[in-house]
Amino acid sequence: MLYIRIMQEQPCIICNQEGRSPSIEHIVPQSLGNIHYILYKGLVCKHCNNKIARIESTVLNSRHFLEKRKPHLLDGVHNKPASLQAQQRFLMKMVYEGLYASRKSIWTSLDHDRCRHFILSGGEWPFRNIKVPNQKFKPVPKLWNAFLLKRNKIFLGYFVSSNQELYGQFKYHNIRMEMRIQ
Ligand SMILES: [Zn+2]
Repeated sequence: MLYIRIMQEQPCIICNQEGRSPSIEHIVPQSLGNIHYILYKGLVCKHCNNKIARIESTVLNSRHFLEKRKPHLLDGVHNKPASLQAQQRFLMKMVYEGLYASRKSIWTSLDHDRCRHFILSGGEWPFRNIKVPNQKFKPVPKLWNAFLLKRNKIFLGYFVSSNQELYGQFKYHNIRMEMRIQ
């Protein structure tokens, strides 16, 4: 007897819709020198991919990043400052995707609706930040990817406080961003 199994298409991890993705998704932007820390085709749909690209472009073409990106600069330099919200969405997206790729148990505990909505639509992030000491953050990527990112002076980190608040951190050279994720 021959059984035919129809594989169900994995919905997009950001909008939760079914939809073919034409490309891989770089968890940390490729234009910062990351080529290895990725999500495979099919995990982020084309629509979300385009949306993320616009947020990334706003942040990466802002003044602070331009200086550090010089070795990787390709085109599309605007040199406008990025809004706080754009920076928060940029960080949120990387931590959300990074946790999915590397720390599934933490990702599973996330409030996906709130995270997804913030990445896609922005708005006011509902959490207040507390100051987390730098050394408390652990790498989101597992050993090998963390090592490769470090070679480009990139660090993507997370911290869970004693009352289960989740924080994300991103460092690129001397640029540092952190915020509460949940
Ligand atoms: Zn999507």
